[in-house]
Amino acid sequence: MSIAVYPGSFDPVTNGHIDIVEKSSRLFDKVIIAVVHNVTKKALFTLDERVALIKESTGHLDNVEVDCFSGLLANYLYEKNAGAIIRGLRSISDFEYEMHMAMMNKRLIPEVDTIFIIADTEYVFVSSSGVKEAALLGGDVTSMVPPQVKAGLEQKYRQIRG
Ligand code: ADP
Repeated sequence: MSIAVYPGSFDPVTNGHIDIVEKSSRLFDKVIIAVVHNVTKKALFTLDERVALIKESTGHLDNVEVDCFSGLLANYLYEKNAGAIIRGLRSISDFEYEMHMAMMNKRLIPEVDTIFIIADTEYVFVSSSGVKEAALLGGDVTSMVPPQVKAGLEQKYRQIRG
């Protein structure tokens, strides 16, 4: 069985991520979306909230699981018996960072390959950070995120504004 892991912060998941997940689910028997628990990176959504939002947004895909991990990705891949890491590419600026990560992971776990999937053009400008900023300033992010995420963003910012 071919198993791929799609790791990321997903703070929050966007339609760009979902596009990559849908494409991956057609290429592999099982895709595990693995939300990184990074103690040094301040996130808007908690780990549990990020996992729940992804689950709600990928319910239509039978071979997709959602999980979280902390520590070294290579160890997690080994534990899950995964043969591939999925990463999405939007632009040349993504490429340099992603290339370094792929080479580092190849050195750490040589039996796993990184597979890059190119985003559809309509998602090329969509990022979690851009969506958060736009939503905070009252912009309409309907076309960029699943409906549950839009509602989650509105709720977060209502709390913040008080
Ligand atoms: P990270 O902190 O690991 O970069 P992200 O959640 O920002 O986590 O991104 C996870 C992966 O999804 C990365 O490979 C990133 O390039 C990719 N990605 C993010 N947004 C998009 C998008 N709109 N289209 C395609 N890929 C994307």
